[in-house]
Amino acid sequence: MNILLAASEAVPFSKTGGLADVCGTLPGELARLGHQVSVILPAYRQSWCCGLPIESLGIDFIVPIGSKTVTGHLLQSAMPGTNVPVYLVQQDQYFDRDDLYQVGGKDYVDNCERFVFFSRSVLEAIRLLGLGVDVLHANDWQTGLIPAYLKIEYHRIPRYEHIASLFTVHNLGYQGNFWHWDMLLTGLDWKYFNWHQMEFHGSLNLLKTGLVFADSINTVSPRYAQEIQGAELGCGLEGTLQQRCGVLSGILNGMDGDHWNPATDPHLSAHYDVNSRAEGKAACKAALQRELGLPQRPEVPLIGLIGRLCVQKGIDLVVKVMQHWTQDQDAQWVILGAGEPEFERPIADLARRFPNKVAARLGFDAPLAHRIEAGADVFLMPSRYEPCGLNQMYSLAYGTVPVVRATGGLADTIIDASEQSLRAGTANGYSFTEYGDLALSETLHRACAAYRRRKDVWNQLIAAGMRQDWSWTRSAHEYVQLYEKTLARLKETPGV
Ligand code: ADP
Repeated sequence: MNILLAASEAVPFSKTGGLADVCGTLPGELARLGHQVSVILPAYRQSWCCGLPIESLGIDFIVPIGSKTVTGHLLQSAMPGTNVPVYLVQQDQYFDRDDLYQVGGKDYVDNCERFVFFSRSVLEAIRLLGLGVDVLHANDWQTGLIPAYLKIEYHRIPRYEHIASLFTVHNLGYQGNFWHWDMLLTGLDWKYFNWHQMEFHGSLNLLKTGLVFADSINTVSPRYAQEIQGAELGCGLEGTLQQRCGVLSGILNGMDGDHWNPATDPHLSAHYDVNSRAEGKAACKAALQRELGLPQRPEVPLIGLIGRLCVQKGIDLVVKVMQHWTQDQDAQWVILGAGEPEFERPIADLARRFPNKVAARLGFDAPLAHRIEAGADVFLMPSRYEPCGLNQMYSLAYGTVPVVRATGGLADTIIDASEQSLRAGTANGYSFTEYGDLALSETLHRACAAYRRRKDVWNQLIAAGMRQDWSWTRSAHEYVQLYEKTLARLKETPGV
């Protein structure tokens, strides 16, 4: 199959979040399964820093943006370690900037124009590069117009008429909402600006556009695909998603097992696998406690958390629980993250007041993230919502027992240690459902009690997690099946 993956970011060329990890890894896995895959991205200032050769293809092109035309230029590189070509759309006025989407915490005012340009460029690049494409795989709001252009403007053109589109939503919270006059920039007829298609409460919504026009839609976990059809997590698009539920599915992201492997991880002072985990983890825990200035006590449960310190990640609950636990519980905490000051402040305060119990590192530190995954006993992810989540998979691989809220990808990966699941051998962590500090605290008590007094249970959970397969190969197989379904859907219903 011939697949063209279009995205606004992919490692190692550009990254602001998990989208870049998916778009940087999935193409190589698909190629390994024997498919022809290409990737197309904007050429940001950041893209030149990845150290890979980027060459000009000597192809200039022009696309209409509202009443003007804008020139672009095509560059080529490749995904490292693969033969997957990466095409980069160069337009320095749009993409040669300090950051990808915003400056000083404020979105660039011309974000709509920038991604109208990129979306149109993707469709033109297919013709200019002579690509044979079966499935055009678009990702998130920045590429939401691609399925629309394909269905409305390109579907009668020979090279394009058999191209099916898949639209993947990595986080429904980011929708690309713009004022209605930006509709003029898209060049599409105002008749599509209605509440069934591109309009959302008077604004132009590019995520909704992708959801409406793509042949298939997916999210990054099966549970999240269900949850976003309800009012609580649907972010106002639940109606659109309900209407399209027949073509909506979920595929869990994989994790990069080369980069996240406790047997080979260069950031760790001791290495281990499922058989040598007892000694390996003990050494990593002692080293982590030393590094963080926490007392080196093997018997005390060490609870770790890594991530953006924001409401989505349930940090409000964590702060409340820590405020109680630091008073009367014998547990240690390590928090690594950056985010909203309302969360950074109380966490820093707890670290100051309870230096023997709390270590806080407010910033981004990738090597320390590896050492926390290895050295902690319990890993905390009490998210309000979680499209997929990666840290819980890293924790399982590193023999660190996850305590999570059962939402999205967390619900799809973590099986709570109940009597039944322990008997069945499926349990690999602890989870709770209700979003509240009491539920979190109670679940943490269960985990810490097992850590201290039920070594048999604890060892069973660790072994179960370490033996699971969360590789990209598994996800890539599911994407291939979805691409096939998407092609079949196009044949069934080719029109708008
Ligand atoms: P999201 O994409 O919603 O932020 P994920 O769990 O899917 O959450 O992925 C977050 C990734 O970023 C993980 O690899 C995590 O280890 C990493 N990460 C987040 N914050 C930090 C930090 N402060 N330091 C190091 N790594 C971090």
